[in-house]
Amino acid sequence: MPELCEVEIICRFLKKKFVGQRIVHVEVLDPTLRYPVRENYAQCLEGGIICDIMRHGKYLVWKLQHALCKEVLFHLGMTGRLLEHTNGLGTKHLKIFYVFNSHKLYFYDVRRFAFTLAGEDLLQESKLGPDALSIGKRQFHKLFHSSRAVKDLLLQQEKIAGIGNIYANEILFAAGIHPEQKANTLNEEQIEKLYYAMRSVLHKAIKKGGSTISDFYYGPGKKGGYQNHFLVYQRENEPCRLCHSPLERTKQAGRSTYFCPRCQKKP
Ligand SMILES: [Zn+2]
Repeated sequence: MPELCEVEIICRFLKKKFVGQRIVHVEVLDPTLRYPVRENYAQCLEGGIICDIMRHGKYLVWKLQHALCKEVLFHLGMTGRLLEHTNGLGTKHLKIFYVFNSHKLYFYDVRRFAFTLAGEDLLQESKLGPDALSIGKRQFHKLFHSSRAVKDLLLQQEKIAGIGNIYANEILFAAGIHPEQKANTLNEEQIEKLYYAMRSVLHKAIKKGGSTISDFYYGPGKKGGYQNHFLVYQRENEPCRLCHSPLERTKQAGRSTYFCPRCQKKP
């Protein structure tokens, strides 16, 4: 499912193609998404020109001019896709299509956890924390007053936005920190390590086109390549790439945690 890196890739693709384009027509074929598509959605967008496209955490935002709304927000949930072509997917899970002056865009979702909203100041209302790639070191340090497990903290979108289960596992391994260690027991050095591990893992994944686990692809139908570079995620019992110990898997808050018992010692 798309996390920060995958949404960043979609964002860059859309930015290149759609900034400056006018939304000529919007057709809502099936409004059943996580939040049903509002009745006036098409009306709010039509005639608008996209003046910018940005990402915050796992959210995508189109900034509009000359439309009834100023922003269109997208969250792709687990299986949401914004594609330039239907890629032979047919219309079964096609929710909305957008006609621009020289392009089309198709919004698909199989599992219906995705959604889109039209309005103003939508990001502010979403109560997201700072974006994981934009947060400063000092601000990051301040997150660690919590007695939650450090992995759970990284997944809390209202504290820090964009990291999901895949990258939380990869980041904690890169920092050599046990996922169950309580956030407020990390020392300065560990927090610093975690900060740089987070930036490095996310940037590397973006460079590799994100991760394609089940069927993530985007825009022109491209797949990601970072799944071939996972250090721990979905590698239970496989040897650690650093120390060759077999990797372990546990469950934390209902989600799989992968770690190396030797490189990520529990304090
Ligand atoms: Zn190891």
